[in-house]
Amino acid sequence: MALYKTDAIVLGYRNLGEADKILTLFSPDKGKIHAVARGVRRPRNPILAGSQLFSYSKFLIVEGRNLDSISQCEIKESFYKIRQDLESMAYGLYFAELLRASTPMEDKNRELFRFFLKTMYLLQDSEDKEILSRIYEIKLMAIQGFTPEVFSCVNCGGKSSSRVYFSPSMGGILCYNCNNKDKRAVSITPDTISTLQKMLMMTYEELKSIDVNKYTREQLSEVLSLFISHHIDRKLKTVQFIKDIKKLNIKSGI
Ligand SMILES: [Zn+2]
Repeated sequence: MALYKTDAIVLGYRNLGEADKILTLFSPDKGKIHAVARGVRRPRNPILAGSQLFSYSKFLIVEGRNLDSISQCEIKESFYKIRQDLESMAYGLYFAELLRASTPMEDKNRELFRFFLKTMYLLQDSEDKEILSRIYEIKLMAIQGFTPEVFSCVNCGGKSSSRVYFSPSMGGILCYNCNNKDKRAVSITPDTISTLQKMLMMTYEELKSIDVNKYTREQLSEVLSLFISHHIDRKLKTVQFIKDIKKLNIKSGI
C-alpha cells in the first residue's frame, strides 16, 4: 500500500455507512481529491478534528484501489471561527462550492491553493464579507483562466465610452456602439467598471479599505453572478443560503 503526505483543506464531505465520511480535500500537491475518513462520526476519533469542514491539516493518506483513506492528520489551522458564525459559514460554503465547481479532480494548482487558503484566513476576520466575496469571485475566475475584459470593449477594443455594458457571454465590457452585439448585455456604471478593474489588478491587502456604495455593490453582484453562471453550468446551492441569512440579519436588526 502506497502512502503519501499532503497538506489539504476540507472543502466538503458526505456520510458513508454508519460512521465514515468521504471528504473532498483540496491539496497544493494533488488538487481536488476524495478520501475516506473512517470512524469520524464517532466521538474521540483521532482524525475527527481534521475532518471538520474548512480544517487545514497535514494528512497521511493511504492509496486505495478505488478510494484513498486518511490514516493520520495533524491540524495546522482549524478555521473554527468560520464554522462558529452563521454568516461566515455561509460564505465559506459558497467559496468552497465555487472552487469545487470550477476545479477538475486531481488538477494540481499551487497558486489556486495559496489563493484559497488566504481567502479563508481573511474570511475568519472579515467585516465586509460581501466585498470579500466579490473579490474572491473575480480573482478565482481569473486564476481558472476566465479573466473578464474590463479595460476595453471586447468587440472593438475601444477604451472610452460614456455608457458601457457588460456581456457575460462575450466575456467583458461592450462600448455604447457595440452594445447591440449582445442583446443580453447589462448596463453598468463607470464606478462599477473601475471597481471591477481594481478587484482584478490589486491584491487583497491593497483592497482592504476599498469603499463601495450600495448601488455599485448590487451591480457587482449581478455582473459577477452572470459571468460565473456563464462559465459554470451548475446551479450553486449556497447562493440562496447567503441570501436567506442576509434576510434573517435584516429582520433581527443585526
Ligand atoms: Zn466597442
